[in-house]
Order: sequence, then C-alpha cells, then structure tokens
Amino acid sequence: MKRIASVNIQEIDSVAATQGTQTQLIQVGLSACLAGQLVRYNGGHSQSRYCLDTLSEYFKFKTYCPEVAAGFSVPRATMRLVGDPNNPMLTYSDSKGDNDQEVENLTAQLLNVVIAKVRTFDQLDGYVLMKNSPSCGYQRVKVYQANGHPHTIRRQGLFTEQLHKRYPLLPIEEEGRLNDPRLRENFILRVYAHYCFRHEVLADLSLHNLIQFHSRYKYTLMAHNQLLYRSLGKMLTGDSELSIDALALQYFTLFMQALGKPASVKNHTNTLLHILGYLKKSVSSRSRVNLMDVIHKYRQRKIPLITPLTLLSHYIEQHGSQYIKEQRYFNPYPEALGLRNRI
Ligand code: SF4
Repeated sequence: MKRIASVNIQEIDSVAATQGTQTQLIQVGLSACLAGQLVRYNGGHSQSRYCLDTLSEYFKFKTYCPEVAAGFSVPRATMRLVGDPNNPMLTYSDSKGDNDQEVENLTAQLLNVVIAKVRTFDQLDGYVLMKNSPSCGYQRVKVYQANGHPHTIRRQGLFTEQLHKRYPLLPIEEEGRLNDPRLRENFILRVYAHYCFRHEVLADLSLHNLIQFHSRYKYTLMAHNQLLYRSLGKMLTGDSELSIDALALQYFTLFMQALGKPASVKNHTNTLLHILGYLKKSVSSRSRVNLMDVIHKYRQRKIPLITPLTLLSHYIEQHGSQYIKEQRYFNPYPEALGLRNRI
C-alpha cells in the first residue's frame, strides 16, 4: 500500500517553510556515515560537507546506520549482495560464492531491524543516502554472481528497498548526486513540496485544500511536466467518485511523478513567458521587451534561471494578482540556498 508520511498537527508550520521565514526545520533522513559518524566498515566516515554545512540550516537530519543498528561491528568485514538481483542475499564479501553452504547469510539480521525502523520515519520529508552500499545505496548497487562477477542489473540496497517500499513518494537521493546542480535543485524542491503537501493538505484533508495546493504549484508543475500538469488539474474538477483520501493519494502520486525529473530549460522558458503574460496590461511594452530579452538569454543558457525570475518577481510583486503572487514557482525553497544561481 502506498503511504505518505503522516502529519503531527502540533508541528504545523505551513507555508513559512518555503518563504524564507522557516522556523521549523524539515526532518530528513541521512546515512549516519554522511553525518560524520564513525560507522563505516573501516571505522571511518564519509562526511558530507554540503549536508552538514548548508542543508543543516534548513533540515533537521535524522541519522541512521542500518548495519550498525543490526548489530554489525565497527570495524567489520565488507559486505555485498549476491545471488538473484530481485531477491539478493547480504553476505560478507569474502564469503565463498560458489557453494551456498559456505555463504553466511546476513539478510535476516539486517532486515529484522530495518523493517521495524522504517515504520518510525513518518515525519520525514526526504532521505539522503550513501551510494554503492549494499544497505544504503539507492540505485546502482552491485549484485554478485557465483563466479564473482557482478550482474549487469543494479538495484537498491536492502535498507533503501524497505524505505522505498513503505514511503514510495518520499524524495530520496544519493549524496554524490547532490553535486549536480540540477539534481540538487530537484531533490530540495521535492523535499519542500512533500513537506507542504503533508502540512497544507493532509493536516486538514479536503478537496478545497487539495485545489489550493494545486493552484499554488501550478507553474512549478508546468515547468516540470505539462502533460501531468493537465492530468492533475482534471483530477480536481469535482467529478471524481473517489473518497478524498483516495483522491489525495492518487493526486500526490502523480504530482511527485511530475516533479521526479529536473525541469528543462525549455519548459522553464515557457513557464516564464506564461507568467510574463500576466503583466501584459500593467507593465509598459518597453519593460516587457526587456524581460523577454532576459528570458531569451536564459533560454540560450547565457544567464542562470535566477536572473529572469528575480526580474519577473519584482514586477509581479508590484502588479501581479494575489493568485500569481502566491505561486510556489517563485519561492519553492529558501532563496538563500542559491539553487537557481546554478541552473
Ligand atoms: S552506507 Fe549505510 S550501512 Fe554503510 S556505514 Fe553508511 S550508514 Fe552505515
């Protein structure tokens, strides 16, 4: 069953989190070794300076090492996944792979602990994981064959699989991929969207609140996936026979799918031009030509997204309707993160 992390009504901080006046830190899971804890097989860590120095200003990291929690020592022999990529076994890397009798199966020891643990992650709005780990890897973990060579198919680590199974809509990313400005921006955008959905919709579930949420995310959706943006709008016309719970789940599933990939320059350009249309009657044609020129320079990748957006939001602030001013597209996360300076 798909599950969206739950909401503690006492913790509601609503839209403040996206407006640069964030008073409550968003809770995000983090592989403990990335937090600098000495939990790796070799007794070391893989500290992430970006998580600790920058994101920790906005996120309250909940650190967890599944292997240590499952009782494996520090230091310990390295582990890996072996056998069927769809149902692999966790074992020590130096276990013999050509005879099942000699392979020490550590899978149950890990799973018994992590399955119970992920049930306590209801308040998380994202998760940052260490790459390649047979426990924490997100996408490209190797599974070894009996001959010692890895399968061509890669998969999730065993902990990540359980996390994803329980919270399929939770934004998850590997720390290394956060070095890519577009992937970084997209992950943080999704974390804030997940947080906002839980607090603005699920905390007081109604069709009205769902429509309000959709309305605020209209241009964000348009910049990411125009097809799904239209499907999401149709879903909220009031014709649905689904219960409000089922409708919210269906909506949010498609919503997170729409935000699943970074928005392209082309789609951002279209979105900026749409927003410019709101200024047709209130801003001089000369100013609009200047704005068009800046948007065009962005489309040619001569300037970053932040430039046309800042200019546009300046005019929208003065002349825009309440509806356009409330668009999350202008402030999907705190500006101080500087994410749009690099895309
Ligand atoms: S990758 Fe995961 S299991 Fe390995 S040390 Fe880091 S937190 Fe622990």
